[in-house]
Amino acid sequence: MKTLLPTSTAGSLPKPSWLAEPETLWSPWKLEGDALTHGKEDALRVALQEQQQAGVTIVSDGEQTRQHFVTTFIEHLHGVDFENRKTVKIRDRYDASVPVVVSEVSRQKPVFVADAKFLRSQTQQPIKWALPGPMTMVDTLYDDHYKSREKLAWEFAKILNEEAKELEAAGVDIIQFDEPAFNVFFDEVNDWGIACLERAIEGLKCETAVHICYGYGIKANTDWKQTLGSEWRQYEEIFPKLQASAIDIISLECHNSRVPMELIELVRGKKVMVGAIDVATNTIETPEEVADTLRKALQFVDADKLYPCTNCGMAPLSRDIARGKLQALHAGAEIIRQELQQANA
Ligand SMILES: [Zn+2]
Repeated sequence: MKTLLPTSTAGSLPKPSWLAEPETLWSPWKLEGDALTHGKEDALRVALQEQQQAGVTIVSDGEQTRQHFVTTFIEHLHGVDFENRKTVKIRDRYDASVPVVVSEVSRQKPVFVADAKFLRSQTQQPIKWALPGPMTMVDTLYDDHYKSREKLAWEFAKILNEEAKELEAAGVDIIQFDEPAFNVFFDEVNDWGIACLERAIEGLKCETAVHICYGYGIKANTDWKQTLGSEWRQYEEIFPKLQASAIDIISLECHNSRVPMELIELVRGKKVMVGAIDVATNTIETPEEVADTLRKALQFVDADKLYPCTNCGMAPLSRDIARGKLQALHAGAEIIRQELQQANA
């Protein structure tokens, strides 16, 4: 029987200290060559085991094989110069030194397919694999070639589709596209962002998800959140078009956020990964707090479409805290499962 309220994480988990500096984003690898290859595989095994021990239903690689959720993918593409960087403002929020698109972009060989096959070989559970979304990729680069965000996004969508088809063939059950940029550039999302996403999932038979959050718990993001006022209504701008899109699952930040829960009504019919774990605090949620967020979400999501999840990735947290949060997610989901079963009994 299919698990009710299948749990998962938005993506990343902390890396072991022997692989990369803990509690930092973009942390450089501590190993190289074959040792790095094996180290990444071992870290993936550990991340998988921690999810399994916590009772997570849909497991992932915890992004153990990548340094960053966007740039690691782009590093594998042709047409992007990582040496001569330029500074841009990411999501209108913070300056970052980024690679430059210097010629036509293309994918010469698979990026994550071998990693996905490895994860597949380690577990019978459903697996989810995260890729960056086209708009978020564009927003993390300086474009000196296409001179058009839309054109570049379209090219990335085609590349992502090639990768996604191979991930599907490798046995991935859910392919997720991370699009935090969807929370910022509403006009572009509605003009071409969702269309590009649909191009990226064209022809896929596995399930597809889009993750739209308010970012990792880093200072630039928490400062930005302070400016958003008492109600965060960003989702409202893009939900109508997402509801009408071909995407199966929408992954959202809900716990401790100021997103009015009733906005989820706008995507009624879609499966919703409800963020019930705050990744911007070291406080581990109690199961009851998790259950409370899920209970609120159930007013706007049918029970068979509710997927308890984390608000975002947990890479910047300590391993102990991330483990505690995984356990809280499972325990909170379990409370609601029992309530639903009693209601149906
Ligand atoms: Zn996120």
